[in-house]
Amino acid sequence: MNIYHISAECYPIAKVGGLGDVVGALPKYQNKIGETSSVIMPFYNNKFTQSHTFKRVFSGRFNLGRPFGFDILTLEDNTLGYDLYLVHIPELLYTDYVYSSNDTNRFLGFQIATLDWLVQLEKKPDIVHCHDHHTGLIPFMMSQSYAYHKLRTTPTVVTIHNGQYQGWFSHNKIHLIPPFDFSKAGLLDWKHLINPLASAIKCAWKVTTVSPNYMEELKYAANGLEDLLRYESGKCVGILNGIDDKVWDPATDDNLIQNYSLKTVVSGKKANKQWLCKEFNLNPELPLFAFIGRLVGEKGADLLPQIFHNSLVHKNLSIIMLGSGDSSVEHQLDQLKYQHPGHYNNYIGYNERLAHIVYAAADFLVMPSRVEPCGLNQMYALRYGTVPIVNKVGGLKDTVQDFDDNGFGILHDGATVHEGSFAIHRAINFYNDADRFKKNRNLIMKIDHSWDSSAQAYINLYNSLIL
Ligand code: ADP
Repeated sequence: MNIYHISAECYPIAKVGGLGDVVGALPKYQNKIGETSSVIMPFYNNKFTQSHTFKRVFSGRFNLGRPFGFDILTLEDNTLGYDLYLVHIPELLYTDYVYSSNDTNRFLGFQIATLDWLVQLEKKPDIVHCHDHHTGLIPFMMSQSYAYHKLRTTPTVVTIHNGQYQGWFSHNKIHLIPPFDFSKAGLLDWKHLINPLASAIKCAWKVTTVSPNYMEELKYAANGLEDLLRYESGKCVGILNGIDDKVWDPATDDNLIQNYSLKTVVSGKKANKQWLCKEFNLNPELPLFAFIGRLVGEKGADLLPQIFHNSLVHKNLSIIMLGSGDSSVEHQLDQLKYQHPGHYNNYIGYNERLAHIVYAAADFLVMPSRVEPCGLNQMYALRYGTVPIVNKVGGLKDTVQDFDDNGFGILHDGATVHEGSFAIHRAINFYNDADRFKKNRNLIMKIDHSWDSSAQAYINLYNSLIL
């Protein structure tokens, strides 16, 4: 089966969050099963594109108010485990960022160029798999735009990694979409705007979300798309994300200060913790709590300053925070450094290597998320022997069970300061029960969250669409 994943992000080429991790791993595992799975993404101006060489496989021109030239590039030497195609539109996509305020035109151009290339391929795709709203107009264009008539019978799948962001834009820009029968314009619309995510839900052959529980939650809270998702529920299914267990393996992860396996976890985690605590002036003798992520409301980031402060006053823990986002949250968190020296520190920004070290060094990872479509951090934490403390939402509910309920993590019921603070209190008691804590660590490192079974679940879904 010839599968094309189309996405704005793909690790290690360009990653902002979980979308990049998923698109960088899923095709690799699908190829392992024996399918032919490739990735199409924008050619950004970043470290990866600057340090690799590419060859051109196609050139074209499309209209987006005026003509734009583009190339489809592929890697000269590819060790990624899947074919990679980069859409190079110098005037739209060749930027040192992934997202910006001009994304309507940037990603419209990306989608049009992608289809201009796919439609003329001798070997037609068997499946076109779109990810999030940046590629959400592809199912509409494939089924309705005259230029892509040849792709009309190719099945499309859209995966919702985050339903909060939908890519809305005004109907004034409808002329930018390659010509189609105007009586079908309703397929683009949701609440008087062109809504790429809504359009994808209407037009794709199947809709998936990144965990079963998130699929259910979206029917009641989907930033305005609840009714649509309920109406289309017959073609919707939740498939839990996996993790790339080659990239995220404490035994081989070359980001770590010291590698470790189940047998060497005590000394391995200790070495990483000592390095991190020295680097950030934290007490390494105390249980180390961590947060890694975007500082936004969805992640419950606004709760962190107070949750951390409530816990830090007891002076019985250390906390490291790695993230960036809302500037007022950044500021409040940064202030904690001065109030609790030796017990709290942070790195405001994005740092892939440091994230790996933090997963390895920490004893607990906190995720007081309000919305969590799947959440990868808790799965990385488990693999690195770090106990997740999570609010019971979305994929967190699917992947973490409470240690007092025959489980292995800490669950709280509600994204509130009280729930988050009490969960940390429970975690410290758990940590102090050394035998139980040690046994639990061995247990969580053995949990298999690799992509093997979910990659197969996607293949089964595609098979159900191929006539
Ligand atoms: P999101 O909603 O942000 O996509 P996920 O849990 O699905 O959340 O994925 C988050 C990914 O981004 C993880 O790989 C996590 O380690 C990484 N990440 C988030 N913030 C940072 C940061 N500041 N530095 C390094 N990695 C980060």
